[in-house]
Amino acid sequence: MEKLQFNQTILRLRKGDITRCEVDAIVNAANESLLGGGGVDGAIHRAAGPELLAACRLLNGCRTGEAKLTPGFRLKAAYVIHTVGPVWMGGTHGEADLLSSCYQKSLELADANRIRTLAFPAISTGIYGYPLDQATTIAVGTVRKYLENHPQTILKEITFVCFDDATVHVYEQAFEESE
Ligand code: ADP
Repeated sequence: MEKLQFNQTILRLRKGDITRCEVDAIVNAANESLLGGGGVDGAIHRAAGPELLAACRLLNGCRTGEAKLTPGFRLKAAYVIHTVGPVWMGGTHGEADLLSSCYQKSLELADANRIRTLAFPAISTGIYGYPLDQATTIAVGTVRKYLENHPQTILKEITFVCFDDATVHVYEQAFEESE
């Protein structure tokens, strides 16, 4: 199961490096400073070039659960949507709502900028330590709810980019459960 469809939008699953995605926008799992970091954030900054850091400096950071847009510079993607996932602190510090908000706000920003194809990494599941199965349920569930609530969305294709086999496996299960 690598594809789901809600109204006119296709949800896909792909293994690989998000910086290589040929989509209108990729989502970055950033930190509140927006000044770069490790993991997918570091990879996106390296691939986009130093212009991305210069653009991010003008944004004055980003709160956890919020999202901000920049150009993609040297990326194939025209835009980067920077969102800040919660750091896992045991699950009793509002982590689920904050993670859901990352997906929701990224989708709203994508629609506001007429983005048709969008790719998400598995936000918070790396350095920020969010349990992968719980994060995946929130990722797929929030995107699904957004599409059900926004039948007029511009988004045609949303890809979940999984960096490793374990992540692919968990997303496959979530897709099956979401059918
Ligand atoms: P966070 O700090 O939000 O946990 P990380 O970058 O540490 O962010 O990890 C988020 C997810 O992104 C993890 O599943 C990690 O394996 C994955 N990841 C790391 N590099 C890339 C990349 N180049 N493309 C796609 N996913 C990536």
